[in-house]
Amino acid sequence: AAKRAGGGRATWFDAAMEQELIQRNSIERGLREGIPRGEIIPFYEPQVELESGRLLGFEVLARWDHPSHGIISPDLFIPVAEESGLIGDLSMAVMRRAFTEARDWDSSLALSVNISPAQLRDPWLAQKIVKLLVETGFPPSRLEVEITESSLFQNLPLAQTIIGSLKNQGIRLALDDFGTGYSSLAHLRALPFDRIKIDRSFVMSMIDNAESAAIVDAISKLGESLNMPVTAEGIEDERIRARLTEIGCAKGQGWHFGKPMTVGAARRLLAERGLLPAARAQIGPADT
Ligand code: C2E
Ligand code: MG
Ligand code: MG
Ligand code: MG
Repeated sequence: AAKRAGGGRATWFDAAMEQELIQRNSIERGLREGIPRGEIIPFYEPQVELESGRLLGFEVLARWDHPSHGIISPDLFIPVAEESGLIGDLSMAVMRRAFTEARDWDSSLALSVNISPAQLRDPWLAQKIVKLLVETGFPPSRLEVEITESSLFQNLPLAQTIIGSLKNQGIRLALDDFGTGYSSLAHLRALPFDRIKIDRSFVMSMIDNAESAAIVDAISKLGESLNMPVTAEGIEDERIRARLTEIGCAKGQGWHFGKPMTVGAARRLLAERGLLPAARAQIGPADT
């Protein structure tokens, strides 16, 4: 019920908000049941060497394989999972599955996983990730953890401790969505990032928008001089790929190379390129 304060003042709780609250509640309830049932699954988005097109690995992106609604985007459920304290369990479930699925892929292939701000408030995060790696047999040297800048603000000392523990285990660290939010160059100096990811908003518009192109160029140069190579995300066509190569950006991802895909599709891609152990390439699941 929309309620209005007297005298024509602003609506404080309108129908749209109520609708959102209802939706939020049902997403939360659905997640509480769905996570233990294995409904949150990894999709894999190819990451490539831009010059040659060589496959370097995949970013792991969560999807909700909902029994009645089908595949649901993370933009819809990750925020709810963060606010309701479910993100830790959700993330561990996705990582466990991805590590298990990718364990036998060619040892040249890496996985990148996303870590939410709320997870960086868990002092045991690094230990939990290391435990998963041990249990699944996925090597830490093939893992990259992506963290956004906004997650660093909330508790920088704790974030530093967690990041230090991950680095000590040989896990690499990437700063995700660089250029959005409160970009502070001090973070680049204070934290041992191995890589910077340029937000797709700049990359997608760099052909038509001179400012975007200048920003991508500047971030690439900055990364180069700080010894933090850059990954460009949101490469949707050949022109963007070529332009990035000119700029000197070596690594990237985007629809030009492949959309986020199921494990079955990823295995087919790997089989085509001879990146699956031969015996397993034939018995891979035939799902889509
Ligand atoms: P992100 O980590 O910045 O991931 C990149 C997003 O850009 C993905 O959206 C990907 O599908 C999209 N993208 C990549 N290339 C292109 C392109 O060429 N064109 C366009 N239009 N889009 C492209 P997605 O999968 O919807 O994920 C959205 C966000 O959800 C991610 O942004 C990440 O912040 C979050 N997320 C996804 N999975 C997880 C997870 O397992 N844990 C956490 N904590 N967050 C996740
Ligand atoms: Mg990411
Ligand atoms: Mg990103
Ligand atoms: Mg993002």
